[in-house]
Amino acid sequence: MKWYSVRPHVVLFTVFIVFWLSNPLIALFDYGKPMEVNLSPPAIIVYKSDMFKGATAASKGTVIYIKPEDKGNLPLLHHELTHCKQFWLSCGMSVFLYHYSDKFRLLYELEAFREGLKYEPDRKGARIEYALLLTTEYKLDKLIDFEIAYLLLGDK
Ligand SMILES: [Zn+2]
Repeated sequence: MKWYSVRPHVVLFTVFIVFWLSNPLIALFDYGKPMEVNLSPPAIIVYKSDMFKGATAASKGTVIYIKPEDKGNLPLLHHELTHCKQFWLSCGMSVFLYHYSDKFRLLYELEAFREGLKYEPDRKGARIEYALLLTTEYKLDKLIDFEIAYLLLGDK
């Protein structure tokens, strides 16, 4: 085999490994800002106020961004930690599945919102709020409406 002959699966595998290993390094962009390490699931929590598109929190693979004023907001933290867990369990594929598939986005958000709901002091009110968020903020209006979101967020 010639040194320059490219094997697509080797290239794909390399890209995947580089993506996987380099993911936590994106926290270095916010070097100097307050950070925490979470062990289960493994994640880096960055506290910063300038967030993408005015979001309250975000997770990029194993890095979680939370506004400083939301520090200690357990429902929010556990929502984002669930996204991190999804990243680990899907070997990083959740990033692409979340972005390109409405069904996976619904699955992932539903799991995250249900996890966050466990930490809400007012579960009834939060369930309505979450159902509204789920139907309006995630481009899922083709798949579900408010009533279905509300039912899906309930206990089994
Ligand atoms: Zn989410």
